[in-house]
Amino acid sequence: MKKTLVLSLGSNLGNRYAYLLQAIHLIEQRFSSQTSRAHYYTTPPWGEENQPIFINTAISLQTELDLYSCLEVLQSIEKQLDRIKTKKWGPRNIDIDILLYGSEIIKSQELIVPHPHLHHRPFVLIPLCDIHGKMMHPILKKSMTALAKDIVNDTVLFTSNTVKL
Ligand code: ADP
Ligand code: MG
Repeated sequence: MKKTLVLSLGSNLGNRYAYLLQAIHLIEQRFSSQTSRAHYYTTPPWGEENQPIFINTAISLQTELDLYSCLEVLQSIEKQLDRIKTKKWGPRNIDIDILLYGSEIIKSQELIVPHPHLHHRPFVLIPLCDIHGKMMHPILKKSMTALAKDIVNDTVLFTSNTVKL
């Protein structure tokens, strides 16, 4: 049965838009699926603050693939884009994270879904609300819009650009 795979994409090195667009193009090819796409958001770095500004977005697609095969495909796309990543939370030219896979809850060495930081990262939640505001968080049992409202007061620095490429 087809599942809705929801992804977060980010880049803060090189031609950030180009990396995101290439990643989306490759994802559509490899999953043989169109994607729903959020806007692109310019966001301050998180965790390690002394680094370039990120562009973040979210996309979703329908797939028959199991979750681990999805992860494999996404990691091979990161590789194909010559992923550069210097350290945890450091600069990277492309990062593709799995946010949700239908309403499945998975916790293993390799994979945690829903993404464990989804609900406290504005740069993840706000794009996600563009495409799936009404979707329920399978553990927290709140909609994505409600989760965004919970944190949005803390996010004065958050700026969005509404350019849809
Ligand atoms: P991060 O995104 O945390 O900065 P990486 O992109 O390098 O770091 O991912 C590190 C590892 O996180 C991956 O090898 C993958 O096995 C694991 N991982 C756990 N949960 C997820 C998830 N929901 N989406 C993507 N990777 C995940
Ligand atoms: Mg990642």
